Amino acid sequence: MEDVFRFADELGPFKIVHIHRASLGLKAVIVVDNVACGPAVGGIRMAPDVSTEEAFRLARAMTLKNAAAGLPHGGGKSVIYGDPKVTLGVKERLIRAFASAIRDITDYIPGPDMGTDERAMGWIADEIGRAVGLPREIGGIPLDEIGATGFGLAATIDVASQYIGLNLKGARVAIQGFGAVGKHAARYLGEKGTILVAASDSRGTIIDSDGLDIAALIALKAAGRPLKDHPMGRALDLDAIIDVPCDIWIPAARPDIITAGNVARLNTRLVAEGANIPCTPEAEQALAARGVLVIPDFIANAGGVICAATEYQHGTQTQAFAAIDEKIRAITRLVLEQAKRSNDLPRAAAVSFAVTRVRDAMRVRRWEAK
Ligand code: NAD
Repeated sequence: MEDVFRFADELGPFKIVHIHRASLGLKAVIVVDNVACGPAVGGIRMAPDVSTEEAFRLARAMTLKNAAAGLPHGGGKSVIYGDPKVTLGVKERLIRAFASAIRDITDYIPGPDMGTDERAMGWIADEIGRAVGLPREIGGIPLDEIGATGFGLAATIDVASQYIGLNLKGARVAIQGFGAVGKHAARYLGEKGTILVAASDSRGTIIDSDGLDIAALIALKAAGRPLKDHPMGRALDLDAIIDVPCDIWIPAARPDIITAGNVARLNTRLVAEGANIPCTPEAEQALAARGVLVIPDFIANAGGVICAATEYQHGTQTQAFAAIDEKIRAITRLVLEQAKRSNDLPRAAAVSFAVTRVRDAMRVRRWEAK
């Protein structure tokens, strides 16, 4: 029998709940990692190959992300075992059954993640009155549509560029992944005067050192076509995005893209991690050794959860943008100052800052040791 306390440390997890409804084919795990800062917010991932361990790791990442951003929320995550591409009817039945099973886990507020979307959050809110990432029709702020995470990336890059003496006007940007995060990061950075010299999607890379037309690329994707169909620039293979000489490189696609094996190919000054864990620890070390500044994922891509937290407080879209801008700029400055002082990687400084914040919050809780 597996040790059910194998993940336990001083921060959590506060609870792990396994759900099984055989008649509905529902298997799910909810991890509420830490609630010292407030009720846990974290997405629901639906995939055939999820696990309790994955749910725990994602929940812990949310604890740190929410604490670093200064949100009144702890971290949690849930996973539903299943194919996210089942018919809408089957999915609705599963998601509603899941919602009813978590009705009494009131310290967990579900949000969207891989395999779930705002419609699914609408079903959950309908069942139990508790979810974030809701459809606009019922008071939601559609965070992917407005580009909340891309907006936050542009803010973190604006602050970080000042630490390396990089002028954003004319700075060359390369973006891997041109979806909800990548395309909006391109757009918001473009408003600050940067030039998009390369972008990639799952079908390939497009490059133009004179600058790509961001609006045209967004329109192409909206029409369901790959970036390489764009008539301007040069179309190259998927991997070519790594070699593009640029000032700012943004991973906004998959995990573990930059490793010890390919990190030497990156030719950039600043990496802002839009995707979750896009660089392995060895790659982040190697970049630091070369003087490349890396803004870690849970700082750089916190725009989405800040938007979700604003929605939960019944805030408006304008308030969400203001909160993202203020919180991401503040935490980026804090982390970079701390990293400079302690001569540490920004990630180490960010983790230490977030853990301290969680520990401080735990001290004001009645049930925690002082
Ligand atoms: P998305 O599905 O909207 O877009 C992903 C993009 O990456 C697509 O353009 C796809 O074609 C491309 N892609 C896939 N594999 C690729 C590859 N091997 N090389 C190049 N491009 C590839 O997803 P998203 O919401 O933009 O999320 C991107 C990443 O950011 C994920 O890691 C996600 O976990 C993370 N993230 C997203 C948010 C958010 O608010 N959406 C917040 C925090 C973190």
